Amino acid sequence: MTQVVNLTGGAASPAKGWLKPMFPHSGKAHYFTKQKGLAVLTSHGRATYWTALCGVDAVSTEKMPMFEPGNWDRCKRCAQKIARELSA
Ligand SMILES: [Zn+2]
Repeated sequence: MTQVVNLTGGAASPAKGWLKPMFPHSGKAHYFTKQKGLAVLTSHGRATYWTALCGVDAVSTEKMPMFEPGNWDRCKRCAQKIARELSA
């Protein structure tokens, strides 16, 4: 079993963290980092691009925001990468 790393330490930065994107609808929360300088205006509002540690891309807009991970399953590949970085 993969142990999910418990990241704590003050307010979560909105620029990265465990997030559940509306698209792609993978059913899992990934550890996303906001891609700077790629904000694009779309018909759904300002779009923000995200890349997860495992390589999954996601796009959020003002109408389709990223969600708190809540009790969604967390991506094990992302969790493993975090664990590897913390132990490096
Ligand atoms: Zn992932």
